[in-house]
Amino acid sequence: MENEKILVIDFGGQYNQLIARRVRECGVYCEIYSYKKDLDEVLAMHPKGIIFTGGPNSVYDPASATYTAEIFKAGIPILGICYGAQLMSHLLGGRVDHAPVREYGKIEVSVDNTSPLFEGIRAQTICWMSHNDYIAEMAPGFRAIAHSDHCPYAAVEDSSRKLYGVQFHPEVLHTQEGTKMLSNFVYHVCGCAGDWKMSDFVEQSIRQLRETVGDKQVVLGLSGGVDSSVVAALLSRAIGSQLTCIFVDHGLLRKNEADEVEAVFGPKGNFDLNFIRVDASARFYRKLRFATEPEHKRKIIGKQFVRVFEETAAGLDHPDFLAQGTIYPDVVESGLGGESATIKSHHNVGGLPKHTRFKGLIEPLRYLFKDEVRQVGLQLGLPESLIYRQPFPGPGLGIRIIGRITPEKVQLVQEADAIWREELLAAGLGSQINQYFAALTNMRSVGVMGDERTYDYAIALRAVTTQDFMTAEAAEIPWELLSRVTNRIVNEVPHVNRVFYDCTGKPPATVEYE
Ligand code: GLN
Repeated sequence: MENEKILVIDFGGQYNQLIARRVRECGVYCEIYSYKKDLDEVLAMHPKGIIFTGGPNSVYDPASATYTAEIFKAGIPILGICYGAQLMSHLLGGRVDHAPVREYGKIEVSVDNTSPLFEGIRAQTICWMSHNDYIAEMAPGFRAIAHSDHCPYAAVEDSSRKLYGVQFHPEVLHTQEGTKMLSNFVYHVCGCAGDWKMSDFVEQSIRQLRETVGDKQVVLGLSGGVDSSVVAALLSRAIGSQLTCIFVDHGLLRKNEADEVEAVFGPKGNFDLNFIRVDASARFYRKLRFATEPEHKRKIIGKQFVRVFEETAAGLDHPDFLAQGTIYPDVVESGLGGESATIKSHHNVGGLPKHTRFKGLIEPLRYLFKDEVRQVGLQLGLPESLIYRQPFPGPGLGIRIIGRITPEKVQLVQEADAIWREELLAAGLGSQINQYFAALTNMRSVGVMGDERTYDYAIALRAVTTQDFMTAEAAEIPWELLSRVTNRIVNEVPHVNRVFYDCTGKPPATVEYE
């Protein structure tokens, strides 16, 4: 049976995927389409409701993104958000103008009238705004249901046509009751029953993947990270041994990591797929032997990684599809999330690599956020240790060894890192600290061990707490734990004679070292 669904029509707002995510959180399936999608196609999907997103343009500018006003006659409930609300008003005969005062940030909004949209919402509620224009005159048939100091029509409705508009952004968490408002829209206005859960995503994806792939072959670059692992598990459930996973071990992984990945996805694991493990460490060490500068190291690692993958894939029997673990934040950052502006380019987003033999790209997690990806992974039976594993950069230990990389240094940092992680977990701190690892400073200093002079390396221990990785604080670690870890490292790891704890936050430092 088809799930009921809400469609989001994207006019280029920065938060459009958040809207979809919030609707899914309410238990209703949701998809996003560009404003260029034809009305016929939209109606053919039988949406229970439609949401118009925000957008960067001004509706009175003739070149701006728009939609046919026919959509308002279809009898489908529509919620316009910011630009979406302005557009609805404009198309239905209201007037949108440059606002005398632009509003940005958290703004107090007063609810003026009872409305299904505001059921259970406080009379005064903090909403997040970001606009230059506003609805100066409502379209015929509408009435105001909320205002702010500078915005007489902060929310409008025409309940007979089930058309709603809000000047603020309910999808952003700064809008304190925004999720409740979206839930009100989907349940009280659109009459949804809430028939969607994450397991449906798994079922739906499996069906779609089977349809797309048919009897063809798919190849996936498996890194052992959460995203590519979840893609592997999903594809394995969908197409089994038509999937080949190439796992490139660049020799810069954490201690035992390559074996752990093999244990899950290799022949002894629980997934039906072809698993190829390529031990390319010697090649990476050779290519890296003169590199000292972080960006240079990253470039070498990235380039070799692609080469090894391509060489291995070239040996396969003509796979038609390339699968990737692209997730939604990668898509947004690359500016490919529908219509929103580019923020920064991303290595694995943007379509098929040039000169490729592949016929198509498969990105089943493209619309999910990290925590949704984790839920999917758990549904698919991936081990929790993998799902909740520590974030690990693509270049791996290559950027946790400051300066020149050698196989000996890799081993040394692997050992120290394993001790640090083991002790933090044993102390029960694993869930309180967002990221922790050991790095090898490029510093050697004099020490004394067994009455003999040493001239050895210093290990830096890192542990940070953070909400979003944009900023971070050094975690407060009990002294006793730090001293135990220090003792173990200097005793168990040869050529380390000092251990530092990094007390710096981000900014001014970063979480990683290079
Ligand atoms: N560009 C419109 C404005 O400035 C809409 C902004 C938005 O959707 N966030 O009012």
